Amino acid sequence: MNSPSYIGRFAPTPSGYLHFGSLVAALASYLDARAVGGQWLMRMEDLDPPREVAGAQGAILRTLESYAFEWDGEVINQSHRHEAYAQVANRWVSQGLAYACTCSRKQLQAFNGIYPGQCRNAGHDPQNSAIRIRVPELEYRFVDRAQGMYAQHLGRDVGDFVIRRRDGLYAYQLAVVIDDAWQGITDIVRGADLLDSTPRQLYLQELLGLPQPRYLHVPLITQPDGNKLGKSYRSPPLPSDQATPLLLRALRALGQTTDDGLRYASPQEVLAWGIKHWNAHLIPRIRHLEEAELS
Ligand code: GLU
Ligand code: ZN
Repeated sequence: MNSPSYIGRFAPTPSGYLHFGSLVAALASYLDARAVGGQWLMRMEDLDPPREVAGAQGAILRTLESYAFEWDGEVINQSHRHEAYAQVANRWVSQGLAYACTCSRKQLQAFNGIYPGQCRNAGHDPQNSAIRIRVPELEYRFVDRAQGMYAQHLGRDVGDFVIRRRDGLYAYQLAVVIDDAWQGITDIVRGADLLDSTPRQLYLQELLGLPQPRYLHVPLITQPDGNKLGKSYRSPPLPSDQATPLLLRALRALGQTTDDGLRYASPQEVLAWGIKHWNAHLIPRIRHLEEAELS
């Protein structure tokens, strides 16, 4: 039974293979959708060809298939969506909401991460320059289903941020908002590393007059050195012959109860069990979980 009131998604970036941390995020979004008869869509966030690992797109999808995940409809590629992003970015420039920034990397470093709006009124040519969106001096807040209230003051904590890079590539913040709306996503379930991107996304949704999806940020699985999995080194693809134990481990990372007998179950059976017993309230209300602490 499909409920149009829930449309979820998984949106991997093919800058590496699927690792255990992304499996946890995929599993959470999948179970949360299927537990209410919702749809689960797949979007490849291939916005940044220079950082893409050759073969990663296919490998991610094959790993998900061997772990028994089934998505609805065709896989969407963000690399085919430039026209949609360009339309919005250009409109905002012509409306004065966004502007061209020609600051050098060195200048930007001196700002310590929060851009003070240097180029706001300079009227630089957007061709061959970065485009930044003006942010208001306002706090954006939302209630995350796992992490609770989260607030960020866009002017003070973020500054005018890049929506198109100097090399012409569109930024994640812009693409994710446009595509989540275009695909009709009602529920965003993803890793807690994106908690602090959410207020920027709320602001872009507001500018576009879009409805705000519900958010659920699950703990990010980290290495003992505190690094996000797959970031500090290139994780190998998850082994396809370990689907059952790794799915069970991911279920435990999400605070879900498992059953001993599931050790001998197929990945399909583990997912079916996970759907039946899914309880989002059991997800640990923390942002990081060390992989080594997992049983
Ligand atoms: N593509 C992002 C990532 O792999 C996830 C984006 C999202 O879920 O909003 O980290
Ligand atoms: Zn600038």
